[in-house]
Amino acid sequence: MQDGRVKEYISAERIAVRVRELGERISDEYRETSLLYVVGVLDGAFMFVADLVRHIQVPCRIGFIEASSYGSGMRSRGQVDVRCNLDIAGCDVLLVEDILDTGLTLHEIVGEFDKLQPASVQVCVLLDKPSQRRYPLEARYVGFDIPDRFVVGYGTDFDGRYRELPYIGYLENPDTGGREV
Ligand code: 5GP
Ligand code: MG
Ligand code: MG
Repeated sequence: MQDGRVKEYISAERIAVRVRELGERISDEYRETSLLYVVGVLDGAFMFVADLVRHIQVPCRIGFIEASSYGSGMRSRGQVDVRCNLDIAGCDVLLVEDILDTGLTLHEIVGEFDKLQPASVQVCVLLDKPSQRRYPLEARYVGFDIPDRFVVGYGTDFDGRYRELPYIGYLENPDTGGREV
């Protein structure tokens, strides 16, 4: 499971501890809620959602939406395609995303969600890069604050690669995506 091109930054063990803490806090804060609609953002959040919901002690409905801003590289294209056909009207929604960077992606998604008239929307992200924020967006639940450096693993990718790694890491050679040149 080790990958020589990726330098470990947050271990699988630390992620597991933090995800459990987030699940416990969410369970506590939504304890009066009869049904929590957990909406994961594909593709990057698939692993985080799978682990997080195992610690949420509130009845859930779980769904996913597609949103992409990065294309295949490391720079955001500055526009977001949001695809959502979930019926969230009247629901308490927990939007779960891998990484909060400029805030554009979640800002656009929350904007789309608001049109569908949910009862409430809160955001949960595994990783936050607060120094990069350009759009007004607050995540109520944050796993780890990280510096502005491109990470992969635990669901997050570079060009579709590295999602399977159980830890979060940095690419040793970001310019080539770790490929040998
Ligand atoms: P934002 O729209 O907030 O600028 O960017 C959020 C999205 O960009 C995240 O959901 C994630 O998909 C992608 N992203 C931002 N930073 C990174 C990173 O360091 N690594 C990877 N793999 N994706 C990132
Ligand atoms: Mg994402
Ligand atoms: Mg990506």
